[in-house]
This record gives sequence, structure tokens and C-alpha cells, in this order.
Amino acid sequence: MPRLENDLTTLGDAARAYLDRTHGLHIGGNVHDTARSYELKDPTSGLVFARAADASAADVDAAVKAARSALAGPWGSMRPNERELAMLRLADLLERHETEIAEIETLCSGRLLANTRGVDVGYSAHFLRYMAGWSTKLAGQTARLSIPYIPDGEMAGFTFREPIGVVGAIVPWNVALGIAVWKIAPALAAGCTIVLKPAAQTPLSALRFAELALKAGIPEGVINIVTGSGAETGIALVRHPDINMVTFTGSTAVGRQIAVDAAGSFKRCSLELGGKSPVILFQDAPLERAIPAAAWAIFSNHGQNCCAGSRLYVHRSIYEQVIEGVAEIARSITIGSPLDKATQMGPVVTQAQQKRIHELIEAGKAEGARVVVGGEPIEGPGSYVPPTVLTDVRADMTPVREEIFGPVLVAASFATDGEALSLANASEYGLGASIWTNDLDRVHHMTRRLEAGSIWVNVHNALDVALPFGGWKNSGMGADLSETAVLAHTKVKAAVHHYL
Ligand code: NAD
Repeated sequence: MPRLENDLTTLGDAARAYLDRTHGLHIGGNVHDTARSYELKDPTSGLVFARAADASAADVDAAVKAARSALAGPWGSMRPNERELAMLRLADLLERHETEIAEIETLCSGRLLANTRGVDVGYSAHFLRYMAGWSTKLAGQTARLSIPYIPDGEMAGFTFREPIGVVGAIVPWNVALGIAVWKIAPALAAGCTIVLKPAAQTPLSALRFAELALKAGIPEGVINIVTGSGAETGIALVRHPDINMVTFTGSTAVGRQIAVDAAGSFKRCSLELGGKSPVILFQDAPLERAIPAAAWAIFSNHGQNCCAGSRLYVHRSIYEQVIEGVAEIARSITIGSPLDKATQMGPVVTQAQQKRIHELIEAGKAEGARVVVGGEPIEGPGSYVPPTVLTDVRADMTPVREEIFGPVLVAASFATDGEALSLANASEYGLGASIWTNDLDRVHHMTRRLEAGSIWVNVHNALDVALPFGGWKNSGMGADLSETAVLAHTKVKAAVHHYL
């Protein structure tokens, strides 16, 4: 039986030294102490390993003021290529601190070290470099004008793209630093300053990242980090009158509340919310690839991916074979400490999340779903959930409708393409969808008709920095990544020049 609890003696010196420090907020380039703090618990054991600062509304106000003065000061007057170079240096520094940052992230979240290394550090560095390039490429338009009520003379028109201003960013724990960088990098490229609130469970990687940004030459006050709860710190940030844009990733329920809170002062809002993404295997699916892909579409990151393939729809001619193949993989997954290289699945983030996942599994059982594998809680102090497959599900069952955000797959069969489409679209969410087929007509037909922001063919959860990633329906509004994200952090100014 693999070890379930983390062995903290295996952490590197840099992560240990960082964890031993007192963690304040990061405001104006300095550590800012708060009146209150809270405990951080290791999800593998429930043991407290550090404390984090709990920011009040007054602390958030100090962070917004620091961001505003950096915008009016050194950052606002830097040339685009200077911003670009600083972001490139930050990407290098992040890679140099890979082990330290990945270990901190793994300890807070329970995510596998390979995942925090690859995604929160590797992908973040890659994305920072991509976005750095946009700093020098933001351009406006020019036009010769013909305004009917100004008949004399010649006129020219120009547009400028200005930074939208101070950005308030709020992010979840499931890819904590990775998503924080999805928010920070386009803001920097556009010339904005930022106040970021990480999830309460995973505050440390963003604080460390902000220190590295200073070393990279990004001036004090450009990136500010306020840690604490959503109920106090998060709300104070969204409602702050001097924030120009709110960019949020998290649950649909909180996103809805944020949209209401931000509307009061007409803040621009980008909301990346929950998902219940379908994986659809047609009768001609390449099964040797599609079966493992369907399994890992839900089990990777312990099911805690916004675009996890949490609903599996399979043509009835291959249904039994696919379910057995996915169940076989589920049974073989090594569960254990996320610091251990041999582990394939660690704990979910908290005991509260573990309890919620099991409640949703129980609801499914009571409604008639069949448990093929998993389903029973793993006893112990860690918040582990076994890979679980529920079959014979209907669209109205609770675990089919609700985002579970854990390693739980629901599966059903279909007879026709039309039925597959209706099952896939019968959801309040519309984040991603993957289809597995080599039939070109079917690919085009389904791609056009699936109601989701990202459609993947013979691959799942393929997020490239150059493509926008955003949800349809209750999965959000706006998009992260790509040119779309950087333009969302700008406001347009039109200027008319009447030649005398
Ligand atoms: P959550 O909505 O509970 O919390 C997200 C963040 O919002 C946290 O920092 C939290 O402290 C803060 N918050 C909570 N209430 C708030 C309020 N009233 N005002 C301001 N801030 C508040 O989500 P979570 O449990 O941390 O993350 C899981 C969710 O995130 C899932 O629904 C998942 O699908 C979603 N997610 C979406 C994407 C995407 O790109 N669409 C990516 C990753 C995760």
C-alpha cells in the first residue's frame, strides 16, 4: 500500500525555507502584516503546515492604492519593450525556481508534483513568454474621416489601445499559480497593474511569484497579492470603487455573485466558471487512444479540472468495451502522497470537498446510477476519493447535472449522432467537449452544433496559449489566453484630427 501522508522531510531546502517564513500580503513590493491569519492544512494528513495572512477590506484598499500609484508611476511610463523584457526575465526566474514553487503548490493543494511542475511552472513560463510578445504588438487603427456635419477640411481618425487600469483578479485552487498567471500575464502585457486574490487553500505560490516579479524588474506595486477568504477579501476586491476590471475563475455560483457586485460600478468582468464537459466516442473512435484519454480526461488532477471530461457518451456498439476499459484503468491507478513520484492520484483539496463529492455519488446511487468502480470513501485523515465510474445514468440525475470537481465519471450510451448531440448539450454548462471519430462530416457537423467554448477532436483538454479559452452558457463570459485575453485588458480611445 503506497504511503498516503506527505513526508515533509523530502521537500527541498528552498521550499522548506519558504514555508518557515511568516507569510504576509504582498503590497507595493513589501510584506504587509495583517491583524488576522489562518491555518494551511496538508490535504494528505489534515495537519497544519503554515499560516497565511487574512486580508481585511482595509488591506485590500492598501493594495488597490499601491496598484493605482504604480500605474500612474513607473509601470505606466515604461516602454512596451521594457515590459516585454521584464516578463521574459520573470519566465526565466520562474523556471529557475521550479522545484521550490512546485513543492509549495503540491503541499497546499494535494496535486501531483509532476503536474505542478509541468503546469504551474512550465506552462506558466511558456504563457508569460507568449504574452510578453503582445506588449509590443498592441496597435490601434487609422482612418480618413467623412463626418457629414463637418463639411470643411480634411480629418484623420486614430484609435489607441490603453490599459484598462487596475485589475482585480480572483482565482481558484485547482491550478492555483497556473490560473493566476493566466490573469497576471495579459494584464502586464496590456500595461495594467493588478491585485490578485488566490484561493484561501493555495495562497503561497502567488506570493512567491510576486517576489520573483520584483527580481525580474517589474516595479513595486504592479503585482499585489491579497490572501484570505472569498467572503471578506474577495468581496472587498470586487466591490472596490477603484478597480477597473474583475477577472475571475471559479465556480458558477460565485461568478454569478461577482457579476452582480461588479455591475454596481460598471467594472468590466471576465468570468471563467464551472463545467461538465462531455467526451463523445462514436462507433469509429480510435479506441486504443480514446479509452485511456477518456479515463484521464476525468482522473487527471483528481478530477479537479474545470474542463474535466466528466460525462462520457459512447455509441452503444462499443459501450461495454469502453466502460470496461475505463474501469480497468481506474482500478489500476496508484493513489498516494502527491510528493511521491509513483503516485498517479493524490487527495482532493479539502475534507469539505471530499464530503461533497461523496454526497453527489450517493445522490446518483439513490437515483439509480450503477457504480462500476470506486464510489466508497477512503478512510483516514487525508481527503482521498477513489476513481469512480457511474453508469446507466440519465440526464436528470444529480451527478450528471452538477459539476462534481472530483474523480467521478458518469457514462451513458447513445444510438445516433443526434442523440449524442442532445445528451452533450443537455447541460447548463458549456466549457469544453471532445469528440472521437475519424469521419470528417461528423467532425464538422458536431463541431458546429456542440454548445461549448472549446471543441477538441481526438484529444481532450488541449489548451494552447494562442487560442481563447472561455465558456458558453453558465460556464462564463470572456476568455483567458490568446490575443482575446490581452485585448480584454485594454480600453479603446478614438481621436479625431481636423487639419486646419
Ligand atoms: P470558488 O468559486 O469557490 O472560489 C474561487 C475564488 O473565489 C476563491 O479565491 C474564493 O476565495 C473566491 N470567492 C469565493 N466567494 C467569493 C465572493 N463572493 N466574492 C469574491 N470572491 C469570492 O471556486 P473553487 O472551489 O476555488 O474552484 C473550483 C471552481 O473553479 C470549479 O467550479 C471549476 O470549474 C472552476 N474553474 C473554472 C476554470 C475555467 O477556466 N472556466 C478553471 C479552473 C476552475
